[in-house]
Amino acid sequence: MILILEPNTDPQGAAYQQLTDYLAQLPNIRTRVHQEIGTLQTLTEIYLIGDTAALSVEDMRTLPTVERVVRISQEYRILGRHRDDARPSAFEYNGVTFSQDNLHVFAGLCAVDNPEHVERMLQALQQHGQVCTRMGAYKPRTSPYAFQGHGKQCLPYVFELAGKYGIKVVAMEVTHENHVREIRDALELTGRPTGVMLQIGTRNTQNFELLKAVGRQQDMPVLLKRGFGITLEESLNAAEYLASEGNRKVVFGLRGMKTNMGDPHRNFVDFAHVPVVKRLTRMPVCIDPSHSVGTRDRGPDGILDVMHVTAQGVIAGANMILVDFHPAPEKALVDGPQALRLNELGTFLQDVGIARGAYEQRCALAKQSPQ
Ligand code: PEP
Ligand code: MN
Repeated sequence: MILILEPNTDPQGAAYQQLTDYLAQLPNIRTRVHQEIGTLQTLTEIYLIGDTAALSVEDMRTLPTVERVVRISQEYRILGRHRDDARPSAFEYNGVTFSQDNLHVFAGLCAVDNPEHVERMLQALQQHGQVCTRMGAYKPRTSPYAFQGHGKQCLPYVFELAGKYGIKVVAMEVTHENHVREIRDALELTGRPTGVMLQIGTRNTQNFELLKAVGRQQDMPVLLKRGFGITLEESLNAAEYLASEGNRKVVFGLRGMKTNMGDPHRNFVDFAHVPVVKRLTRMPVCIDPSHSVGTRDRGPDGILDVMHVTAQGVIAGANMILVDFHPAPEKALVDGPQALRLNELGTFLQDVGIARGAYEQRCALAKQSPQ
């Protein structure tokens, strides 16, 4: 059960004290307090853990400072969507709002290779009015002999160039908690020209110590990729690890599943789960068409498979698209074969716009139809 307190409740105040004294004497109930400090107000939620079945929602609502009470009907206590749960499904970071109701494109390099390619990529994004990108500095690779990413050495020029071209959020994978510190230090060093969304890759979805470390920091939001060989429930619980450590600014990423049933795509595309994740949780949902499809093959209709699956995810309500582009894919050090070219960015964005428009029409139609 969650008690949502009136905004700006003073934790030193008498009413709050009365509330916590009352909760402390409830048998077999532990409490956990979460505070969300926003620009306009501070929201406090108290999680009641344990024997809550006997507690009545109506009684709890009458307690001092309590504004609303949500009975947790499902798993995923914090990020889940529960019955009568009007908690928001949105968060803001560096001036960009992430929500289950909007859509952002994160086109960019799978892996940073050199400043020239970074700059050409960012310039193209600015020309197309984009404020988000992806840039991999730490690359988890199948082979220990493959390029592992330039790591912290490339961060200053990536952040400076991102700032120069008006990029507000860079999605960047971390594979170790030290990387979080390196990113934070590089942002400080360069005067915070941009923001970073920390990405946890599919190979680390159940790296619980990494999840806890990334969840403990609350300054940067997190994109958690679904594990490619585990159940959806296991991946959603991984997201809950981040939230239970304190960071609720979490986007959930679908990126295809490892099974030969998906051949000839690199992974079996799982974007049918976009509405499922939105129903089970309040997280915005990202799709990664590049790592799902893994090729530049196109259908007889002339449309790239990467664009086909993107449209499928967007028409199902996806909120974020992570997609590999490269100014010279033949020279890319990682995942060149799946990268789109800069001269395809305009078409890609237009195609996304068509699919998003269709999704909005579908929502309007559903509102008029009998439920
Ligand atoms: C990536 O986005 O660069 C990546 C490695 O993705 P995934 O973890 O989904 O394989
Ligand atoms: Mn890649």
